[in-house]
Amino acid sequence: MAPRSRAPPAPGPAPTERLSCDHRSHRDATLARSGLSCQARRVAPVVDRGKCEGKSECVEVCPFHVFEVGRMGDADFAQLGVFGKLKSIAHGRKTAYTPRASACQACGKCVEACPEKAIKLTRVQV
Ligand code: SF4
Repeated sequence: MAPRSRAPPAPGPAPTERLSCDHRSHRDATLARSGLSCQARRVAPVVDRGKCEGKSECVEVCPFHVFEVGRMGDADFAQLGVFGKLKSIAHGRKTAYTPRASACQACGKCVEACPEKAIKLTRVQV
């Protein structure tokens, strides 16, 4: 039997190099050169404004200062249902915001601490 000719080997993986990326935890990651931007994902807390009563436990437990509690903005207030609006008014329209969500390290302390179960950690594309 004649030896089968082999197709030339496919080009191997492109060499890797140190690339920068805006994603905090991948800033110095070694990424394959793919022509694509960083596909890194990270986790960030999402606050359910219909549940949050602005009690600030998340502010107190987060080691990375992700949260601030303040007055709910009009646009967010308008998104609430009737019950959510009444509840929000009863609590002075206070709610938690996440101005430093990119600092989240997914420790879960805020999820455990929230008495209203208003926080979920969600994967987000960066
Ligand atoms: S999961 Fe941890 S780091 Fe992320 S927002 Fe909650 S308490 Fe902060």
